[in-house]
Amino acid sequence: MSSTDPKAKKQKTEEDDGIPLPDLSPVDFINLTSHSDAFGVDPIPVSWGHPNPMVRGPVICTIRHAAQRNAIGAHQGSYCVYTGLAVAAGKLNPEHMPDLKLTSPVFDIGPFPSWADPKKIASIDPFGHVVTDCYRSYLDKGYDIRPTIAVTKAHIDLPETREAMAAGRLKADGVVLLETGQSIVSKAAIEPVWYLPEVARRFGCSEAKLRQSIFRMTNGMYPELITRPDLKIFLPPIGGLTIYIWGDPDTIPDEDIPLTCRVHDECNGSDVFGSDICTCRPYMTHAIEECIKTAQAGGCGIVVYFRKEGRSLGEVTKYLVYNTRKRQEGGDSAEKYFNCTEQVAGVQDTRFQALMPDPLHFLGVTKIHNFISMSDMKYNAIVNTGIKIENRIEIPPELVPADAQVEITAKVFHGYNSSSTVTTQDMKDTKGREYAYEQPKEKQAGEYIVEDK
Ligand SMILES: [Zn+2]
Repeated sequence: MSSTDPKAKKQKTEEDDGIPLPDLSPVDFINLTSHSDAFGVDPIPVSWGHPNPMVRGPVICTIRHAAQRNAIGAHQGSYCVYTGLAVAAGKLNPEHMPDLKLTSPVFDIGPFPSWADPKKIASIDPFGHVVTDCYRSYLDKGYDIRPTIAVTKAHIDLPETREAMAAGRLKADGVVLLETGQSIVSKAAIEPVWYLPEVARRFGCSEAKLRQSIFRMTNGMYPELITRPDLKIFLPPIGGLTIYIWGDPDTIPDEDIPLTCRVHDECNGSDVFGSDICTCRPYMTHAIEECIKTAQAGGCGIVVYFRKEGRSLGEVTKYLVYNTRKRQEGGDSAEKYFNCTEQVAGVQDTRFQALMPDPLHFLGVTKIHNFISMSDMKYNAIVNTGIKIENRIEIPPELVPADAQVEITAKVFHGYNSSSTVTTQDMKDTKGREYAYEQPKEKQAGEYIVEDK
């Protein structure tokens, strides 16, 4: 063989860096994942938690590498189905390789020691924002490896921030907060990447039990959870999270520099549309105000926003619970607040905070000076992973909407951290707004026949 023989050259490249050549599968080939020997014969090895990203291995979850793919699921979380629609509609070439050359982070995050500790990070890929740096040699060979984290900056504009300025609580400094009321943030969007053995450990079950439960409750959406116990990584079809940072992110790991933090779970009705049945938006905007103050004092403020709508039960379930709360005998009351969710969903809460601290460890957080939350579940989850919390800050009472007294009273009674105390009598006495909803009237299916005009 001469040295110009392309085959010899390819062989040499492979030997030099130990990276096999990509096995590019045809994109129109249908792989049934229900048989263990049908595909994925040669997944790229992953050593989760290894400090060297090349030894750790890239997360490969794209459709181009049927034989070498090492993760179950699909990129883009719940939006993965839309890419299927786009291909079906002829709008997306399934062979499209993303052009990532201008996409790299606009500020640095890490690496931190926590990145190499599965007990600290098991639900996101800590190298997910730097795949073009860490896995350049794979990308150059033609592998389709996607970032699961994107890091950018923004100006954000909230009426509550302008109100805080008008009231004299916040002052523009031209750096963190502008005269216009806009504040300047660094932010990161993160898609979930689960390392199943550690996720199972945190939930106190076996990995097999975890895999079986997800398989069953998604109607068998991912057969590989059962057929491929050797594949340890799962990109679940769920919402991800966004990190918002005020101040210099480089100060985050320094325990001597103040850090303010809120971990917020999505509540679209309140967060975006201002529904007053809960404290979600007021809590979030109060946290942002505190984050801005901390950043102006030379520290950093972080809001981690999880897409866990309706305690991860979803908005349909949430509204069903609202109707139950308002219609139940005696009306909406603090006493029955948690019961109503359980009555409808069978469970009070599916947010399970066990994976929640991971983005904090991704940022290198080891100490939070001001934790803007009353939730004991969140507090315990964070301190149990080794992060210290100095002060716990509850929402100022004047920010609680009238109709949200039911929620806050029930939460404080059930152990949420607060300076106020709630008695059983308060629980009985705290009532929500009356909507005078009619009791459900049974109708026949025939009454819903759509008339043909
Ligand atoms: Zn809410």
